[in-house]
Amino acid sequence: QDISSKEIIALEDKYGCRNYSSLPVALSRGEGVFVWDVEGKRYYDFLSAYSAVNQGHCHPRILEALKQQASKLTLVSRAFYSDQLGKYEKFMTELFGYDRLLPMNTGVEGGESACKIARKWGYDVKKIPKNQAKIIFAEGNFWGRTLSAISSSSDPTCYDGFGPYMPCFELIPYNNIPALEKALQDPNVAAFMVEPIQGEAGVVIPDVGYLKKVRELCTKYNVLWIADEVQTGLGRTGKMLAVEHEGVKPDIVILGKALSGGMLPVSAVLANNNVMDVITPGTHGSTYGGNPLACAVATEAIKVILEEKLSENAERLSAVLREELEKIPKSKVNTVRGRGLMFAIVVDDSIPAYEVCLRFRDAGLITKPTHGQTIRLAPPLVITEEQIREGARIIQKVFESF
Ligand code: PLP
Repeated sequence: QDISSKEIIALEDKYGCRNYSSLPVALSRGEGVFVWDVEGKRYYDFLSAYSAVNQGHCHPRILEALKQQASKLTLVSRAFYSDQLGKYEKFMTELFGYDRLLPMNTGVEGGESACKIARKWGYDVKKIPKNQAKIIFAEGNFWGRTLSAISSSSDPTCYDGFGPYMPCFELIPYNNIPALEKALQDPNVAAFMVEPIQGEAGVVIPDVGYLKKVRELCTKYNVLWIADEVQTGLGRTGKMLAVEHEGVKPDIVILGKALSGGMLPVSAVLANNNVMDVITPGTHGSTYGGNPLACAVATEAIKVILEEKLSENAERLSAVLREELEKIPKSKVNTVRGRGLMFAIVVDDSIPAYEVCLRFRDAGLITKPTHGQTIRLAPPLVITEEQIREGARIIQKVFESF
């Protein structure tokens, strides 16, 4: 390599907007569960780009689909039809059991689109008075960085200094059914948007039965339930969708991240006709949304999850990772929680979590803390039992060093 990690970090620091404080490691290659820095050192990736590379880095099948489609047709915009979009929409809607799919690019655009659909549904179907439709969110939510997304945030770092905020967004505590029922009684509520497990908040898992109750209440009060499965979806928690753990079906599902296996930004909103049909020509869109390259890549990325049984692998190895993490003394790691291969450990206050991540890096495993003392562990779902035990051994050893 003609450039060192140090020089790469200095470049970003000097020329980039300083909107991230990345862990100091500069990567140039990835394959499966591993990434390599520019000096050639290998690391286990235990973050998976916030669960966007569930299929592993540079998955050969997805890469091949990308190459094939990139050499034929990449973008037509929605001014015209392509031979890829309809096929992809049929595949996805049949797989997830919804009538229609709205193709977008990033996760936050998926969330924005879901909110727009919900408002329009509120006026057209629920007959909420003009400009009064409310959307309820849960405290601790994270769905991106746009003005709408930060308007629903309870984290001052996200919203402070960026007002004024989107009106008619309301917050209730997560995992709190009485608060939800109270909020939904307002006839102007169009939707409740919630993550089945809160990712950025630090893998916050609601009580068993919460999602079932959310479904019941949204039906009872004629409110749309929007499930943000951008991080939890597509195998991460041991099912294709995290809501499947409770056998419930949201009115709107948002997918992103692993929908492309890390190749390019692809997101999607799924809903049935009675909801999606409020969107008519000209009322919503995106130049890149539904582009043929994204459709080909997303189709292959989903097929890989299904055919390589990655949900099942996440479910099976969940117990292994938990067992290994439970071996770390409670005096060092207070809490271990997770579902599938979406885990978090809460490091004791006596040990700085950021320093833990630096030592993980030195020992050959990378991830990042979220919200102070919480460290997320989310390896690609193609990981083997042997690899997960080796990763866990690195984690255990690092904690022994404190
Ligand atoms: N929703 C959830 C649950 C997320 O975790 C994220 C990103 O971390 C998003 C939405 C936003 O996705 P993107 O960063 O692609 O806009």
